[in-house]
Amino acid sequence: MQTNFSLAQLADPHVAESEKILRKCVHCGFCTATCPTYVTLGNELDSPRGRIYLIKDMLESGRPADKEIVTHIDRCLSCLACMTTCPSGVNYMHLVDHARAHIEQTYKRPLLDRLTRTMMAFVLPYPSRFRAALKLAGLGRPFIGLFEKVPGLKPVAAMLKLAPASIPPASPMASPGTHAGQGTKRGRVAILTGCAQSVLDPAINETTISLLTRLGVEVVVPEGEGCCGALVHHMGQEEAALASARQNVDAWTRAIEKGGLDAIVVTASGCGTTIKDYGFMLRLDLAYAEKAARVSAMAKDVTEYLATLDLPEPVRKSGTIVAYHSACSMQHGQKITRQPKELLAKAGFIVREPREGHLCCGSAGTYNILQSEISAKLRDRKVKNIEATGASVVATGNIGCITQIASAAKLPVVHTIKLLDWAYGGPKPEGVSGTTLVATE
Ligand code: SF4
Ligand code: SF4
Repeated sequence: MQTNFSLAQLADPHVAESEKILRKCVHCGFCTATCPTYVTLGNELDSPRGRIYLIKDMLESGRPADKEIVTHIDRCLSCLACMTTCPSGVNYMHLVDHARAHIEQTYKRPLLDRLTRTMMAFVLPYPSRFRAALKLAGLGRPFIGLFEKVPGLKPVAAMLKLAPASIPPASPMASPGTHAGQGTKRGRVAILTGCAQSVLDPAINETTISLLTRLGVEVVVPEGEGCCGALVHHMGQEEAALASARQNVDAWTRAIEKGGLDAIVVTASGCGTTIKDYGFMLRLDLAYAEKAARVSAMAKDVTEYLATLDLPEPVRKSGTIVAYHSACSMQHGQKITRQPKELLAKAGFIVREPREGHLCCGSAGTYNILQSEISAKLRDRKVKNIEATGASVVATGNIGCITQIASAAKLPVVHTIKLLDWAYGGPKPEGVSGTTLVATE
């Protein structure tokens, strides 16, 4: 694609990076067919190619963002299916991240939208605030119908609908410390305890620590780590995202220097995609660029790390049919497609992949709150395809997808690690009935 940036514009490293990306696009349109918003809405401006043109125009003109571009960029899930499809290697992720930051700096959103976003950025990345907010959600639940009728309050209605009726207590295993591996030591890793996941389902990290330590891996919960920054990053709040990234880079660098690490294990693929991008996000910060690149290179999804270990035969095999939902951040963001399915199959499960597996379930960070109508359409389409597999349980590797799919599916939805843990001798995952998981040997 031909671009027309002035030399003065190209002196801005963010513009220069976006210009390089834009030049790679040959406007072939292959990406439109796999874009969930184009498939749902049928509008070229809600396709990757349409958005790329809008972003090019906005950046070249140097104009503040306007309502039209904000509408179409807000509707983008950042699912990155377009990057998997694109034959020219267009890095849409970095382009749309730049566009979102430009929107945040130049566009004044309506008051209720601003308030919702400020509230989400204040609450969601902090487990204690998020836990308190979920406890208060019960008070707002009777007003969901009312909130749904006011366009600016639809996100509040969506949040209340997604809030679970009860939340588990905080996990003591999430506190900083070291969990020793059993038997022969096979490795040493740090684990990201995260933010929303640690409140909604602390058992995911507890199970991960339990399985890894049983396999002989020492697991460190480093002092000072926090939210990965993805939630604010996707809202264009660049400084807040970079502050989270720096905090984690510092925490993990201390852990690396203290006792060495083989990997930084991440159990939410949405966070994994962002952490693997820290090297890029902090490339212009001389004090952090090198450390951030090292952290990014060490970040591994838990299934990616487990696949590097020579796992023994499982303790129990069930033959249960599992529908594996590959989160967008797993398959498109991190290109992890093989390992989770292979681990489940090796652990004795029959793995089925739903049709249209490349399409997002509509969760996408805060998308199911801010764009609840498109999100619900994508969720229902996903659930229909999952239920058509005939599976008894759904496995996936991202808390956002678990919450989203479970809000409409009739079958249990669990993190992949919980099924693996059960097969290797751990307890049955909560919510999965005794008849679904039966050991056959
Ligand atoms: S597939 Fe790639 S090159 Fe083709 S229009 Fe989409 S982004 Fe551009
Ligand atoms: S990230 Fe997803 S929703 Fe956004 S343009 Fe690409 S395919 Fe479409």
